[in-house]
Amino acid sequence: MPAQEVLNKYTKTLIKRAAVVKAIFFDVDGVLTDGKIIYDSDGKELKHFNVKDGQIISHLKKAGVVVGAISGRDSAAVAKRCAELKMDFCHQGILDKAAVFKKLAAFHKLKKKDIIYIGDDINDLGPLKLSGLAICPADAPVYLKEMVDMNTKAKGGEGVLREVADLVLAAKGILAKILKGK
Ligand SMILES: [Mg+2]
Repeated sequence: MPAQEVLNKYTKTLIKRAAVVKAIFFDVDGVLTDGKIIYDSDGKELKHFNVKDGQIISHLKKAGVVVGAISGRDSAAVAKRCAELKMDFCHQGILDKAAVFKKLAAFHKLKKKDIIYIGDDINDLGPLKLSGLAICPADAPVYLKEMVDMNTKAKGGEGVLREVADLVLAAKGILAKILKGK
């Protein structure tokens, strides 16, 4: 069964923790993207996003999981992508990500165990420590990867959010229903 195959990659403890998750907060550069920033001739930022990540967001939202970005940078491309995917929030230009994380947790009435945070760099340390399940992409710095609960197989921009969402939805028993067309 495909949904079970997703779960076979993880420990029972991790699956239990993923099953109770009510929110996935994430960084953008290096998580939803490969971290590369391209400038056009007008100095406008261009970024690559992965359709794999986008596809799963509507399913997370249907499952009642709060989904949103906390980005250190500020770019129109990110705002567009967040709006396109109907994320619950998209906070950009954030210097103190931990402060924003705390406000969001309070606003959505979420406890530590309810929240997954995915980040790839030092400015994500605060929210990674505040989350119930801290996750890094495969190409995050080793010292960061060693501090968190899980590393994805995917590198930034290659479906990191998708991998995490698949785990959460499978752990909740929702992925099996989606695959059956329910
Ligand atoms: Mg980053």
